[in-house]
Amino acid sequence: MTDPKVESLSERLGDILADVSRHSDWADDDEPTPNTQAEKGSETNLLESKYDVQVTLADQQADPNSPLYSVKSFDDLGLHADLLKGIYAMKFTKPSKIQERALPLLLQNPPRNMIGQSQSGTGKTAAFVLTMLSRIDFSIDKPQAIALAPSRELARQIMDVAQAMGKFTPVKTAYAIPDALKRGEKVHAHLVVGTPGKTFDLIKTRALDPSAVKVFVLDEADNMLDQQGLGEQSIRVKNTIPKTCQLVLFSATFPDHVRTFATKFAPNANEIRLKQEELSVESIKQFYMDCQSEEHKYDVLVELYNLLTIGQSIIFCAKRETADRIAKRMTAEGHRVDSLHGKLDTADRDRTIDEFRSGKCKVLIATNVIARGIDIQQVTLVINYDMPLTQRGEPDAETYLHRIGRTGRFGRKGVSINFVHDEASRKQMASIESALHCKIVPVQTDDLETMEATIKDALKGSS
Ligand code: ADP
Ligand code: MG
Repeated sequence: MTDPKVESLSERLGDILADVSRHSDWADDDEPTPNTQAEKGSETNLLESKYDVQVTLADQQADPNSPLYSVKSFDDLGLHADLLKGIYAMKFTKPSKIQERALPLLLQNPPRNMIGQSQSGTGKTAAFVLTMLSRIDFSIDKPQAIALAPSRELARQIMDVAQAMGKFTPVKTAYAIPDALKRGEKVHAHLVVGTPGKTFDLIKTRALDPSAVKVFVLDEADNMLDQQGLGEQSIRVKNTIPKTCQLVLFSATFPDHVRTFATKFAPNANEIRLKQEELSVESIKQFYMDCQSEEHKYDVLVELYNLLTIGQSIIFCAKRETADRIAKRMTAEGHRVDSLHGKLDTADRDRTIDEFRSGKCKVLIATNVIARGIDIQQVTLVINYDMPLTQRGEPDAETYLHRIGRTGRFGRKGVSINFVHDEASRKQMASIESALHCKIVPVQTDDLETMEATIKDALKGSS
């Protein structure tokens, strides 16, 4: 008898393959033409995804009837029992859409590279952490899986996930971030999470032997490959690891110019991608407030304080000085807020994010240093005090998406408010709105009651 699960999968794949010809423009010029698959999801739940997800398989020989192409349960992945225990201890009952799609491809043997894209808060971390953990040979005391992230805060968070998932395995882990290792200490851990500069430093000084690395992950990959410093260091690290290593790139965003480079960085990769109009998370309601001046933005923010503490909030500023200045002023006026940016020393950075994570501090004023990846479920409100701009001063739609994606995690509701105050900032917002095909709704700055009602309404039903 045929397993009904396999049958329905092959039916689905049949439909998918029929779509191949229509989407042949996704194929890369300098790669062998991959099978391109698109599937129409029909469910309404975000995590079941109503979006078209485009999966490009690098391996044309792969058996389309294999149930491993997409799984509905973690049990179907062939993972070690110890890993399953870790997953269920984290209260993950079933895979999210990206996990369902990516994990079978990631766990394939021989290993294949992966370029994976899905909206913020949809569970990309677990997908790559499970891949790392499942490929480690625990009898060998050498680094075998490395994940790099753009900030120390994100590296620490990924480590938390790796340790929770690996809790029932003998995995040993180590950080490759500043001030985490003692001078001269060598890394013998199986799994390493780090930032690119420090990781390369450890390899260069022979504190970390990369010769047995089997999985190399770049989280927030578009950012890691695009930004000069991060990109250079990430490439340097990659050049030290074995050529056979599985390369895994994940992000919610892959602007075209980075994707081209990503496909060179991780050749012949399986690809899971989103269209531009699918990038926004619909459970995040987006608003803007038209302020009269830079100074008025501050007044409005202070008036919003009670709303900021309904749940928790992150206020994003363009500059470290602005973050510090606002935090100082608000603190002097009796509010409890903290600021976080790259100028703080490592101990302060760790303490600040930990206090925010634990809820001890409910309002964090920050720069883009925590725009990406940070997952704190209690964050209900994100404020763009300054609109996000690229280094060249252009509106930065990707960073906008990542910033507001600090709320609305894993299907929860969230609210974002943009402060605009002059022609330039209004234009920047309009440009982001049109790039992302999203709707940013005005709320009055002088009517706090309506404002409060609007926000509470937007958050209704969220835990
Ligand atoms: P992303 O990297 O895609 O932005 P994360 O990996 O940070 O998202 O996951 C977002 C949240 O969803 C985390 O709090 C995580 O614990 C939770 N999560 C991930 N996968 C599952 C799952 N299968 N079931 C329940 N919760 C999950
Ligand atoms: Mg992430």
